[in-house]
Amino acid sequence: MKLQRPEEECGIFGIYNHPEAANLTYLGLYALQHRGQESCGIVSSDGAVLHSHKNMGLVADVFGNQEIFKKLPGKAAIGHVRYSTTGSSVIKNVQPLMVDYSRGSIAIAHNGNIVNAQLVKDELEAWGSIFQTTMDTEIIVHLLATSKANSLVDRLTESLNTVKGAYCLLLLTKTRMIAVRDPNGFRPLCLGKLGNSYVVASESCALDLIEAEFVKEIEPGELIVVDKNGLTSFFPFKKIEPTPCIFEFVYFARPDSYIFGKNVYAVRKELGRQLAREYQIDADIVIPVPDSGGPAALGYAQESGIRFEFGLMRNHYVGRTFIEPQQSIRHFGVKIKLNPVRDILKGKRVLVIDDSIVRGTTSRKIIKMIRSAGAKEVHTLISSPPTSYPCYYGIDTPNRKELISSSHTIEEIRKYITADSLNYLSEQGLLDAVGGGDGNNYCKACFTGGYPVKFPKLTAESQLDLFEE
Ligand code: AMP
Repeated sequence: MKLQRPEEECGIFGIYNHPEAANLTYLGLYALQHRGQESCGIVSSDGAVLHSHKNMGLVADVFGNQEIFKKLPGKAAIGHVRYSTTGSSVIKNVQPLMVDYSRGSIAIAHNGNIVNAQLVKDELEAWGSIFQTTMDTEIIVHLLATSKANSLVDRLTESLNTVKGAYCLLLLTKTRMIAVRDPNGFRPLCLGKLGNSYVVASESCALDLIEAEFVKEIEPGELIVVDKNGLTSFFPFKKIEPTPCIFEFVYFARPDSYIFGKNVYAVRKELGRQLAREYQIDADIVIPVPDSGGPAALGYAQESGIRFEFGLMRNHYVGRTFIEPQQSIRHFGVKIKLNPVRDILKGKRVLVIDDSIVRGTTSRKIIKMIRSAGAKEVHTLISSPPTSYPCYYGIDTPNRKELISSSHTIEEIRKYITADSLNYLSEQGLLDAVGGGDGNNYCKACFTGGYPVKFPKLTAESQLDLFEE
């Protein structure tokens, strides 16, 4: 069985030692909904048995009925939100993945992507493993089940030494919760405390919602075990220079979160200030593409002195337009999501700021919308460099051919989106704005093509398009 091409964005949350573990996990997932809107699930432990509820849909829809929580008893729980594209959007792929194996029951929730997944899977299948899902996460379960090591921590370490790529993991057994962040630290993961309970979440905004105190970020390469004796931290992997994902700052994480030692909102505003230092645009107003361009547009306005306005209004009850799998729906999606404020835009030279251009579809629609509202000129600034390379570490980006800047010059993109001018933040500008972090050494592969974890050479049938070109 072939694995799906890695197109996933996810959020994970877990809590240990709380009488309302499943309820709080529901709230945590609610705060992490932006990291995945297609499916979600919670597994709880009552100390003797694991209980699971998961389905396709938003957190509020899947867990909208209080009765569900009666079926999720126990003082420990882990949860997962996931976004994936068609093909893999099936119930069997909804996480947490729960299995019974010779050593008991275990549930696993994963954020990130394993880049040597197909190779490891082929090998496991050759030895007789039978896979239930098309998720790379299941590989870890099979590796755990086949490991001969004595303790769970050793079996997990051995398993994770076999896989390469990005993983933030939460595992739940009857008596333990385990959190792991890969040695590169691609995705964020933090530890919190709520009274006597330990909490783990992809982003700190999930701690805020349940009023848990932020303890620390789980470090790249750190493995944490929480059980009745408290918390134990291990660093079982070979230490390497971490490469946290810079795109979490640009777009993916929520602005109120603190990741990689920084507040996302402050970084995004600095991206806007940096844009203003790089490009002086003659414009009457600066407007964001809501919500993703908000902090950068504000930063630009403050640095440049150009008036900030909300020129586009967003309907918050529509999912991210990017989710829609078909081109035709995506075109329509921008219109249901955004509407221009005519009085603000009419007769103006408008500077519109967004965080990134992926296929170019959104910008093209938005610029048309702003012009039809009477704008005299429409200039565009993007608060990151051109997104020219797909991400294989857990951010959903289309394959290389669909990324407009992989095959078009900035001038060609400008013409396509019909802007009067288009400029992107420089790579140096991005780095200056983001500043230090975990080792100062971010993964910028989506902008530069420099992938910090190398891929195995894949076969022609490979789902990964990187080597097909
Ligand atoms: P596009 O129409 O394909 O150019 O999409 C551009 C829009 O998608 C921008 O407004 C971004 O904020 C947003 N975006 C960028 N990357 C992602 C992603 N990985 N998932 C969802 N939306 C994204």
